[in-house]
Amino acid sequence: MGKREYDVIIIGAGPAGLTAGIYLGRAKLRAVILEAMTPGGQALFSERIENYPGFPEGITGRELAERMVKQAEAFGTEIKTLCPVERVRLEDGVKVVEATGGPYRSKALIIATGAQAAKLGVPGEGRYMGQGVSVCAICDGAFFREKVVAVVGGGDSAVEDAFYLSRMASKVYLIHRRDKLRAQKILQERLFEQQNVEPIWKTVVKEIRGNEEGVKALLLEKVDTGETRELPVDGIFVAIGRRPATEPFRGIVELDEGGYIVTDQGCATSTPGIFAAGDVRKKSVRQISTAVGDGAIAAYSAELYLERWRG
Ligand code: NAP
Repeated sequence: MGKREYDVIIIGAGPAGLTAGIYLGRAKLRAVILEAMTPGGQALFSERIENYPGFPEGITGRELAERMVKQAEAFGTEIKTLCPVERVRLEDGVKVVEATGGPYRSKALIIATGAQAAKLGVPGEGRYMGQGVSVCAICDGAFFREKVVAVVGGGDSAVEDAFYLSRMASKVYLIHRRDKLRAQKILQERLFEQQNVEPIWKTVVKEIRGNEEGVKALLLEKVDTGETRELPVDGIFVAIGRRPATEPFRGIVELDEGGYIVTDQGCATSTPGIFAAGDVRKKSVRQISTAVGDGAIAAYSAELYLERWRG
């Protein structure tokens, strides 16, 4: 097998991809994980993971990812970081992955690229990104010690982010477009025990305003009345869900209307030998534990596919 030829290429080193790497390495298959950034995926953005079995005191996303990386490497799986994938093409059933240092070739491919933070798409968001606008409370929260911040969204991420920020910021507004959060109740209860957290219901952000120093205020609009007002803030954390990272696979595997990869129960996509695992896959529950489950299933399916390939 040539230097850049593998039994299985895994794209993405989040919990799904790393688990697939552990299983394939342990099965003595030649596997590589191509990761655009650093390993860990969205788990890196969780300060404390409390619902992943085996860690009763919780574990940081970073530590969990580091442990998974160690485990995959111990079984011989290679991990290439800062290796974004541009395109995948098929050559007589061989999967050719165009990425930094490539192209890489394999008989089977597992796509585990996850999903990335969605943006509001309002004026000021792009201009002040990194200057008061953030999509990662864990990464940027420390810049807002004793400052006033707003979190936008009503899901688990928004509520977790608001809770995290409430322990450093002087005030946290949680801005949601409805009057009911979709976040888990246990997270909501913990958030609203914090004295410095204030929800702003049925409201959307129309514009992020600032000056050369960064964000200064938000232009808010009441959804039902259309009434607008300016809310002074030092920062805004956008936590309105994710979009699947599937651009390089368009036309190669079937996607649903939201861009997620359609698979069967064995994580097989519409293209033989290509599997998808984790948040990038069309499914109902996106958690680390379900991503890990997908990674194991996809690896197992890839192994069966290779056995058939060898005849
Ligand atoms: P999510 O569950 O999809 O929630 C997105 C939130 O943003 C919703 O409340 C939605 O409002 C709001 N929203 C969407 N587009 C908007 C827009 N353009 N303007 C304003 N608000 C907008 O996303 P998530 O919170 O990132 O969670 C993603 C997945 O990860 C979920 O399955 C979640 O359970 C999981 N997760 C789990 C944990 C945990 O278990 N600890 C932590 C984080 C994430 P509506 O409610 O009105 O639709």
